[in-house]
Amino acid sequence: MVRTLESLLLGVCFLSALACARSAEQAAEPEPPAGSAEESYSSMAPVALVETGDAVIAPPPGTDPFYQKYINADGIVIVSSENVPDAALIAARRTVLHMLSTRPDIHQAMLPNHPRISIMAVAETASDLPEFDTGADGQWGLGQMLGDPTTLVSVRGVCYEGNAEYRANFLAHEFVHMIQNLGWPTTDPEIEDEIYSAYLAAVEKGLFAAPVDEPLGIDPYDAYGDDEYLTHGVNAWFDLNETLPGPWVDVQIGGSGPPSGTRDQLRENDPVLYEIISRFMPETLGDLMDPCVPTESE
Ligand SMILES: [Zn+2]
Repeated sequence: MVRTLESLLLGVCFLSALACARSAEQAAEPEPPAGSAEESYSSMAPVALVETGDAVIAPPPGTDPFYQKYINADGIVIVSSENVPDAALIAARRTVLHMLSTRPDIHQAMLPNHPRISIMAVAETASDLPEFDTGADGQWGLGQMLGDPTTLVSVRGVCYEGNAEYRANFLAHEFVHMIQNLGWPTTDPEIEDEIYSAYLAAVEKGLFAAPVDEPLGIDPYDAYGDDEYLTHGVNAWFDLNETLPGPWVDVQIGGSGPPSGTRDQLRENDPVLYEIISRFMPETLGDLMDPCVPTESE
């Protein structure tokens, strides 16, 4: 296990999409009146869609002025402040398009739910972004739920050429949560139950540690241990074997979890999860990880 001082200090974790309680209050916030004479921004309002190709542009009118950079991944908006390199947004766009490449139906199902990713610079904390309050500070990733405005991803979790701060693929992790929350209710409504069953079996076999604050056997839609089990499995599916921080250990020790393992290990140890992941993920991440060195080298 690799655990750095930085991760301990920041209390890094991936908050489960389903464990995130902020959506209810924020969803009730009214949108600004159309045609208002004064400039008015709502962090909850969907950011407008404009075509970008693979170029980073200034955000369209109506976007909160915190955001100075914008790219559109076929309806999935990716934004950041001026402090995030263009290369991060371009790599994020390529990554999410690639991750959806075998399931265009999931991509389409997500679009009415206004999928968005906010990339956070190294010098920023979550509450610097207009959608998050100080309760989210210390988080490097928060997956967008239905009714939420955006996903939070630290630039430390985006692999691109020249990213000396890369730590682990937070982007892939949170994007799996976005697929779960924004796509599957339409395309794969039964899959969460399957994942929960696989999760219970994996915990029973000692393959995965359940969160200490969540009893086993609760309603899968109220649980987050199974969500992190899934994202951990996707990390192995892509052979990343990264040490991903996660709430299942964060609540116990405040640090990073064990490495996710490899594709071969996943196939051998947990063929049920392997099969589930095969239904919605491409075989590899292609060349997307080429610029990034494993965190184990730290
Ligand atoms: Zn997570």
